Amino acid sequence: MIDKNRITGTFLTLTGFDSESFGEREIADELKRRLRTLGLEPEEDRADELCGRKSENSAGNLYGFLPGTRAGTPILLSSHMDTVKPGIGKKPVVHPDGKITSDGTTVLGADDAGGLTAILEALAVIREDGIPHADIEVLFPCAEEIYGRGSAVFDYGRLRAKESYCFDLTGEIGEAVTRAPTILSLRIRVKGRGAHAGFNPENGINALTAAARALARIPTGRIGELTTVNFGRIEGGSVTNAVPAEVLIGGEIRSLVHEEALRMNGEIVRIFTEEAERIGASAEVESEEMVRAYETDRDSPVVRRFEEAARAAGLEPKLGVTFGGADQNHFSKNGLSGIVAASAMHDVHTVHEYTCIREIEKLAEMILELLKRA
Ligand SMILES: [Zn+2]
Repeated sequence: MIDKNRITGTFLTLTGFDSESFGEREIADELKRRLRTLGLEPEEDRADELCGRKSENSAGNLYGFLPGTRAGTPILLSSHMDTVKPGIGKKPVVHPDGKITSDGTTVLGADDAGGLTAILEALAVIREDGIPHADIEVLFPCAEEIYGRGSAVFDYGRLRAKESYCFDLTGEIGEAVTRAPTILSLRIRVKGRGAHAGFNPENGINALTAAARALARIPTGRIGELTTVNFGRIEGGSVTNAVPAEVLIGGEIRSLVHEEALRMNGEIVRIFTEEAERIGASAEVESEEMVRAYETDRDSPVVRRFEEAARAAGLEPKLGVTFGGADQNHFSKNGLSGIVAASAMHDVHTVHEYTCIREIEKLAEMILELLKRA
């Protein structure tokens, strides 16, 4: 039976640890202990080291395997271990109505302890009640909040599962997304030539002018239904009486269609190059793929099972798309068919973040239904 008090206890324990990205050591050790108790032999990889972020507070990705007690489809359950900042010294507050908030000075960490708690609860119930199940794999990545850097370096060759459920989404339990974007991060450097603004401006090449002309030509915001473009940072120049020699611009492209993100990137490179060359400046655009777009077929077994499980738990499944990245982007890139499902978290990435015990209970119930159907 799903145990509300145990859920509350697990959630408070997990959110009681400091676990900002690449600082998941304590929560990882706790999760290892709990997985062992549940009959899974947990293994930790060297993701933190591979990302060049190993420290005494860091951890790798945690993987656990529970052999099936019957034939069936192996599935992967996943929620990430890290939180965003400010996440040090979290003090969860349980309110009489079952709502849990932080004390207002940090995030709560329901993103993603809501998912972790529900997965652990479902595994506990499977074990206690002797519910027959197929192979179950769990993956608790580190550093999801930095474009899924932990899951980006996981060794997917070891997985039995070809289907994954990533619990890491705001919204009502029963909601899920089947599609997410490619995200390209851009760093643009426009180089001109410095000169005194009053004595010899003729010798200067104004990098800011080239950058401004280029920016004015590039559409930003939502570009059609599939793509967004944003320039979020600009710095450059030195003093008001010198022609600015260099300008740096930071931006990003998101598109639900990978090729469209690449095409837009090509446009941005072309426009910056043109505007720089027009006045004798130069432009370099560095583009880094943070996550890759995926689209999971809504008729696929992994989605069908989710809809059936949600209904069995008394929920109305609702499928959508997201413009955010998650570990599922890396799962899909590595051959897993999967979705990202709502995981009892609200107002995430703010100090007003909250969850409700009732929602984590519902999520645990739905995960149990998934396991029964795998
Ligand atoms: Zn998350």
